[in-house]
Amino acid sequence: MKVYSMNKLRIYIDMDGVLANFDKAADEHPSNGVKGYRPDLILDFSKFEVMPGAKEAVKKLLDMGHDLFIATTPPWSHPSAWGQKRNWVEKHFPALKRKMVLTHRKDLLIGDILIDDTKWRGQPDFKGQWFHFGKNGMDWKYVIETIETINKVNFNYEKSSTHV
Ligand SMILES: [Mg+2]
Repeated sequence: MKVYSMNKLRIYIDMDGVLANFDKAADEHPSNGVKGYRPDLILDFSKFEVMPGAKEAVKKLLDMGHDLFIATTPPWSHPSAWGQKRNWVEKHFPALKRKMVLTHRKDLLIGDILIDDTKWRGQPDFKGQWFHFGKNGMDWKYVIETIETINKVNFNYEKSSTHV
């Protein structure tokens, strides 16, 4: 499904495990290893480190002219995480402020690409292309290379195309 012109893609980016290092914070928490430990319900989501390569990759995608949004599923039973995520985005990715979608149903998003590391929120049914981050070598470098390739293909197609 094409949402925009051939060269401008609407891209949704997941937070935990893609932009924000949830796992590191979960591993380092003092309660790690305690029975019943639920990091998703107790961590401060505003304190996560940025995933390696994420900042540079987002900048590249913005420089390419793509329309980026964050698509994240805040834990329902940890209401303060919703605001913590907003604060994290403002601090680390100010260019994406007011461009957040909070949803438990990523299949309902309308766009070209979804970059996401899990499949539990409708990602497999997303109508664009789901990039399964972390699977089969899909890291930020691979994501950028793939989108650059799509750009080139689309650009050549537009140049050679007779229709408008
Ligand atoms: Mg994730």
